Amino acid sequence: MTGDKRAVIVICDSLRRDLVGPADTPFLVELAGRATQFAAHRSVFPSTTRASSASIATGCLPARHGLYGNTQALDEGEGLVCRNAGAPDFRDQMRRATGRTLRVPTLAERLRWHGEAAIVCSNVSPGAAYFQDPDGHGYVYHSAGSYGPGLQPIDDPASAGLKKGAAGDKAMTERFCADIVAGRAPALAVMWLSEPDYTGHHSPLGSPQHRAAIAAADACVRQVFEIVRRLDPSGEDILFITGSDHGMETVSEAIDVTGLLVAAGIKEGPESRDIVVAPQGTSATIFFSEAARDRVTATAEFLGRENWAGRVVAGAALAQVGLPDDGALRVAVAMATDDRVNPHGVRGYGPIVFNPDDSESKVGFGQHGGLGAHEQSPFLFADGGGFGPRVETRATSLIDIAPTVLRHLRMDHDDMDGEALALSA
Ligand SMILES: [Zn+2]
Repeated sequence: MTGDKRAVIVICDSLRRDLVGPADTPFLVELAGRATQFAAHRSVFPSTTRASSASIATGCLPARHGLYGNTQALDEGEGLVCRNAGAPDFRDQMRRATGRTLRVPTLAERLRWHGEAAIVCSNVSPGAAYFQDPDGHGYVYHSAGSYGPGLQPIDDPASAGLKKGAAGDKAMTERFCADIVAGRAPALAVMWLSEPDYTGHHSPLGSPQHRAAIAAADACVRQVFEIVRRLDPSGEDILFITGSDHGMETVSEAIDVTGLLVAAGIKEGPESRDIVVAPQGTSATIFFSEAARDRVTATAEFLGRENWAGRVVAGAALAQVGLPDDGALRVAVAMATDDRVNPHGVRGYGPIVFNPDDSESKVGFGQHGGLGAHEQSPFLFADGGGFGPRVETRATSLIDIAPTVLRHLRMDHDDMDGEALALSA
């Protein structure tokens, strides 16, 4: 790696590509005039923040990195049980159950020999923050606990007080700009904003509250970009990337997939460990104990007959959606979405999978996790490092970000699922 090359990434959680426009995101519209804009950018499946975070960090699909969504069934010795990957101790549960966290190296691990190589500031769930660097090769700052190399806890008052929402994002951005991008100047600096995801889950998409959250995120991106280009006006050294992890759809209803499988006689009971449904917002991953594997086909056939189910994949077909086909995860279902317009003019509705750990009604608000057109339409811009004004219309994915960063840092990047994004001619 050459010394002056650096990369700065800012993620606006959940910002849909079609909601980037002059009224709410004046900065991103301005950026489109000088940066490369990726017009066919996609999320991964499940399109949840934690799986997306691991895919951005590793350049690999969930099938290879091993984090299959926001929730995941683990066998901790007494059969399968669904765990919340957003919890601060999930990575420890995963390590105990499977012997490790992610199965492929993150950017932080690849950069670990470069001093203060990778620094992450995140205002989303602890799980999504920690899966940027679950084994502690660089620094992760988060309100639930900050860690340095070797997973050494760091007392970081600037992060301890952060709350999700625009005010917390703003405070994090100020600290990120001054202390990290300008001060410590690591090879890779990542900042992950909670907006507009946080407000999108608690208000209708396109509502005044949601639009204000989008505008607040846009202002944070502007602030980081300005410091980046003040440090490197030519754009030769600092690659600036901003994007989102997924979009959102409006929730039409909640479907109790576990209850339906029990009622159909496929799963033994609501809490049984034979078949475990892991809710992923607008999709579910379904895990089977060894003894229940003869019910995989019946489960997929049952789901295929339900009108709320969109794409159902089982067995070897899981590879087509980037999931493994060799473990307890045997079936996945993405909810059926449609293109109706909500009261604020935003397209796209879909049901969610009822989550017993999060039973507050989400109907009419935003959600994601599946394969719907809008939840699968995150935005992405790249500026500097050879990216000039251009619209890339070829399909790109979250997994293309990590190899792009490594190429800029003059490091090997050919062992990832993603490919480095095409530079401007
Ligand atoms: Zn997200």
